[in-house]
Amino acid sequence: MKQVHNFSAGPGILPQAVLEEASRACLNFDGLGLSLLEISHRSKNFERIMDESRALVKSLFNVDDAYEVLFLGGGASLQFAMVPLNLLRENGTAAYVNTGVWSTKAIKEARMLGHVDVIASSETDQFSYIPTDFTIPDTADYLHITSNNTIYGTQFQSFPDCQIPLVCDMSSDIFSRPLDASQFDLIYAGAQKNMGPAGTTMVMVKKSALGKTGRKLLSMMDYQVHIKGGSMYNTPPVFPIYVSYLTLSWLKAQGGISWIDELNQKKASLLYSEIDRNRLFKGTARPDSRSRMNVCFLLEPAHLEPEFDKLCKDAGISGIRGHRDVGGYRASLYNALPISSVQVLVDVMRHLESQFA
Ligand SMILES: *Cc1c(COP(=O)(O)O)cnc(C)c1O
Repeated sequence: MKQVHNFSAGPGILPQAVLEEASRACLNFDGLGLSLLEISHRSKNFERIMDESRALVKSLFNVDDAYEVLFLGGGASLQFAMVPLNLLRENGTAAYVNTGVWSTKAIKEARMLGHVDVIASSETDQFSYIPTDFTIPDTADYLHITSNNTIYGTQFQSFPDCQIPLVCDMSSDIFSRPLDASQFDLIYAGAQKNMGPAGTTMVMVKKSALGKTGRKLLSMMDYQVHIKGGSMYNTPPVFPIYVSYLTLSWLKAQGGISWIDELNQKKASLLYSEIDRNRLFKGTARPDSRSRMNVCFLLEPAHLEPEFDKLCKDAGISGIRGHRDVGGYRASLYNALPISSVQVLVDVMRHLESQFA
């Protein structure tokens, strides 16, 4: 089979070794002679996976026992609701920075539960940058940001200095670069972009931030219930958690955050340099806000798109059409994507230029 270079925005590429190990576990998990798909989540073999997955997150984020890690169902989108349910007081205010479709959806849910103050937004500029000059109201219950905007290819380059609890949707850049996780009270990430397959969402929360809202919560919506249940209050998404566990173990074994940081930096600069150099391509995100994970660009003139698409297809490049809301192209350079795949894309861009520019 010809090698495929997978630039999909999500669900995204996973390491080949992880896929192989996961497929073995489908047939015979842990030498049990049983599939991982047909054993109890309360078996000690799976409980070990759950414990180690939660520990891996804490170790990669370098945080202590002030934090708890959960692997929940419902996608990152459920967290848009769980965050205000668990952190927004009945008559309180939540502050949000609106940097794209996902932030907008998070704001919509919070508004159903209380007062929301959108303290900055780049909406009028097609979400092409990350706002940096805003004032954080010190009376708000928390500030919510989206660290990486998967659709527009923008990313916070540094995080706001925040005196109130900081909450972050890190779905599309989790564990892609070093950061000080202790700055955050809550981090969540749908696994399917950069740490696993679809079906589970990682939530890391500071225990001291919980239990302050005065709300009565449905059990499944209550982080404290899930914490008490060891992330197994109900049957957890066993297989997505296992594949996330394998992916995080892979990351750690390869050299962890500092290793992936260097690689991700190289991949992104290889592609952005070509976009900036090549006469046919143009980046859409403002340079000071560019994402290292999702690289969005246009081909001009657009009538060359079928030609470019064909060259990409022949080279085995998959998944680079832009999001349906924005068009153009988007190359997602998640952790598992090797730099050789980026080089293949750059070579195709150069080839197109040599023929048509
Ligand atoms: C994909 C994505 C989501 C939505 O995730 P679901 O798991 O589909 O709910 C939320 N936030 C960001 C930043 C995303 O990239």
